[in-house]
Amino acid sequence: MINRFRSPLSIALALFFLAGVSLPAAASRTYQVQPGDTVFQIARWHGASPESIASHNQLNRAGYIIPGQVLFIPEPATLADEKLYTVQNNESLFTIAQKFQTNLSWLRQRNWLSADQIYTGQWLKVPAVTQPATGGNGNAYVWNIPALMARHPGKVFLQGATQRKQVALTFDDGPDLEYTPQILDLLAQFGVKATFFLKGANIAGREWVVTRMVREGHLVANHSYSHPDFRKLTTVQIVAEVTKTEGLVKRITGRETALLRPPYGEMTAEGLDRLVTAGYTMVNWSVDSKDWRADHQADQILANIMSQVKPGAIILMHSAGGSGQDLTPTVKALPALITNLQAMGYEIVPLTDLLPVAAYKPGV
Ligand SMILES: [Zn+2]
Repeated sequence: MINRFRSPLSIALALFFLAGVSLPAAASRTYQVQPGDTVFQIARWHGASPESIASHNQLNRAGYIIPGQVLFIPEPATLADEKLYTVQNNESLFTIAQKFQTNLSWLRQRNWLSADQIYTGQWLKVPAVTQPATGGNGNAYVWNIPALMARHPGKVFLQGATQRKQVALTFDDGPDLEYTPQILDLLAQFGVKATFFLKGANIAGREWVVTRMVREGHLVANHSYSHPDFRKLTTVQIVAEVTKTEGLVKRITGRETALLRPPYGEMTAEGLDRLVTAGYTMVNWSVDSKDWRADHQADQILANIMSQVKPGAIILMHSAGGSGQDLTPTVKALPALITNLQAMGYEIVPLTDLLPVAAYKPGV
């Protein structure tokens, strides 16, 4: 007899309590191991394979888990005609079948269910009403990156090549007066160094924030002046965007930026030619926290990152937003992120420790 009351899925994530983060009522992509659980069982409940649970949580011995341990649950892969649905309170397989205009056998088959028992927070594959949009996943920029890498070997990076358990935190779009100082406070508190890709148009009046970044051991890098999509600009305009921010940073720090992250990760071949000649290395990211999404709370940001992290990962976050954009979840997620990464044996390093690059141009 299976205990119906093992669930609802425990959302009592100890790290979040430590960090003071309140979790949304809906299920998250974390699961706290209960006495008697097995990886196989947990995988089954979440539509995942035991191997993927083990690898996402870097379990030293596959299948070895302890009660109270928090597992990150990788999002199950879905077919084109499926999407994921999180079971809400008091729902049954039958009500879900009605809701998505399908039948019980479709749900049982697609979700590998051996019984009709489901629980709050469980992921179920349900019929996709619409086809998923293509290229809208935030990684569309990758399209021409292999070509850019081939054109300028060693000058374009998405991640570090290291096998060591090192990752870099990068924060884009700052400085601002609201979130960037809070992020700097937390980084100082944890003794972690990060890299800030600065938007030049955000610097005026906030020079002291940039000074603080450098004084506290962080790297400052170039994220253009006005944050345009470089693929829609001429080469002359691209160079002007980068040069303008370089000048502003130099006036404050005395250093010329040599690391560039183009807005949205987008770059043209000719723009890159000119910028490499000017001494730049382009550094995008391998892990998108998606912290810019208004619907992503701290636990979702953490899950986005932890489910993708691996040695050499370059993690994209933001330290400033557009007007009215609330980055509180980013700030809230940061302590748990640092604690979690370190608990998993990861060292958090500046980009220059992860990549064979210099942060600043020589001789200035
Ligand atoms: Zn940006």
